[in-house]
Amino acid sequence: MKNKVCSIRDPRLRQIRENLRRIIAFPVQEKIDSLKWIIINNYKDSKDTPSEVKERLRNLESSLKKSTIVCPICHYKGIKRDVFYNSLLKEWYCTDCVRIIRDGYYLVLEKKSKGEWIDSGYPEEYALSFL
Ligand SMILES: [Zn+2]
Repeated sequence: MKNKVCSIRDPRLRQIRENLRRIIAFPVQEKIDSLKWIIINNYKDSKDTPSEVKERLRNLESSLKKSTIVCPICHYKGIKRDVFYNSLLKEWYCTDCVRIIRDGYYLVLEKKSKGEWIDSGYPEEYALSFL
């Protein structure tokens, strides 16, 4: 799949999308939190082995991260927003975060064209993957 934006214009459909995201995301996040709580409490009263708990936690976090529900950058702040699929990273990002990354990239390009200093730690390949 190539980079693409998935947007919904109809306000009623946007509301349905947001509600569905909340219906899915919040129970998953609760389960993630409960698994982290088990780990913090050193697996006390857990019926599962530590490796089973960690595996379940990894699977849930990975599934949520790969979904259109949670933006990997702003997390639940983007729950109402349209999403952008980054084909290089194979993840969905909210369009607000994508806009910030793109604006930053174009600012860096402008600075480069003027011969201004660019931080060597600037993640140019990462930013390019959002164009
Ligand atoms: Zn975001």
